[in-house]
Amino acid sequence: MMESRRGLIKLQDNKDIMKRLKESRINIVRFIYVGTDGVMRSKSAHVEHLEEMLQNGIGITKAMQSFSTLDHLVPQPAFGPEADDVFLYPDVETLVPIPYSPGNARVYCDLLTREGKPWDLCPRSILKKAVKKLKDEVGLIPQVACESEFYVLRETDGKYVPFDDSRCFSTQGYDTGNQVIQEWLSALREMKVDVVRIVKEYGPGQYEVNLSHGDPVKAADDFLTLKDVVKGVALNRGLRATFMAKPFSELAGSGLHLHMSMVDLSGRNVFYDGRDPHGLSEMGYFFAGGIKSHIGALTAIGCPTVNSYKRFRLGSWAPTHNTFGYNNRSCAIRVPTIRSGLEEKGMRVEFRVPDATCNPYLLIAATLLAGMDGIKRRIDPGKPVETNAYELKDAEPLPNNLKEALDALQKDSFMMENLGRELVGEFIKMKAMEWDEYHSMVTDWERRSYIPIF
Ligand code: GLU
Ligand code: MG
Repeated sequence: MMESRRGLIKLQDNKDIMKRLKESRINIVRFIYVGTDGVMRSKSAHVEHLEEMLQNGIGITKAMQSFSTLDHLVPQPAFGPEADDVFLYPDVETLVPIPYSPGNARVYCDLLTREGKPWDLCPRSILKKAVKKLKDEVGLIPQVACESEFYVLRETDGKYVPFDDSRCFSTQGYDTGNQVIQEWLSALREMKVDVVRIVKEYGPGQYEVNLSHGDPVKAADDFLTLKDVVKGVALNRGLRATFMAKPFSELAGSGLHLHMSMVDLSGRNVFYDGRDPHGLSEMGYFFAGGIKSHIGALTAIGCPTVNSYKRFRLGSWAPTHNTFGYNNRSCAIRVPTIRSGLEEKGMRVEFRVPDATCNPYLLIAATLLAGMDGIKRRIDPGKPVETNAYELKDAEPLPNNLKEALDALQKDSFMMENLGRELVGEFIKMKAMEWDEYHSMVTDWERRSYIPIF
């Protein structure tokens, strides 16, 4: 087995890596990056030629960051077929075999220029830059954990349906899903991802996995691993797992909730203050205020598909308004209840808007930057909502659809500057194209509703 920085043995050098890969009978190493659109993609090296690529990376056209989820080049792309290459440069500490895909290993990559500098459109490098900015400008080190929901489906008569009928938190769902669950867990452990909890969620066939908290880049890497493992293992067993936000109109949606805290250079959680009745420090309130003040842009980045907005329904346990509250699961931003005695360790802010179709590097970078802006500008998150937020009359709604969210992102000059105008520009172009394509489709619902009447 490969071991990582986070594992037990430090890798000596590339020779050591090669030896271990051969011992594990690996033929292919996937060099993985995530597109602007949030899709995991890779080019792969044959193990016999890997050493050179570990050193120098693998060239890839810049045009890939102008590619949409549906594999179309955006209109007036910043990068087309004539564009130069950048290089998929492996972070060798993330190199691990893929247990459910024999002969395969994977490594997460940064996109570097020919000169070896982080490319402006590399999402993983943008997150690293954001983390550095927090340390340099406010002396804080963010801690992040991802909590993601998803469905396991089977295909019957050309339709996807939940693979079982188990209820919310039902113990039955651990039996019906046991084969895949066991395989997910052992694969994730081998791939150095620490699972804290697995929950049978609300919908039939829906589960939630909570990953442990820590370094933001590792949190994003681990979330991607979770997605790949859950989907890959399900496919091997003839099932289909999906992280799309709202696969069925009548069933619960799937969110990606982010849990965030900050430690100072001495390792103290600065979001905790015992003098506050809820244990949240002034810094924690300002962080929440920053998220509130950039909510439109964060929604665009965190909910980047046309389907994402169908998850925000009254009573859905997903947010509908730009709200903040203590342990209020109808709010966009929640301060979870922490068991007495554990406050200092556990105090954190949860952002409940995003879903798992986003690019996690961009989402985490954007959310931390928004929080930092709140801390610097001392932004008050306002009165916490103590009632059911679905019943509020005067709260600001979240963007209604992808188009509204993209417009908000375009107007957020702080986000444009900090994530990079070129990257955000390509993101907006590709997502506007997705929106236009969706709206050019005539649906079954329209035919069913209008043909008999008009
Ligand atoms: N499924 C809900 C969502 O879409 C969240 C349910 C929960 O609180 O875990 O965000
Ligand atoms: Mg949940």
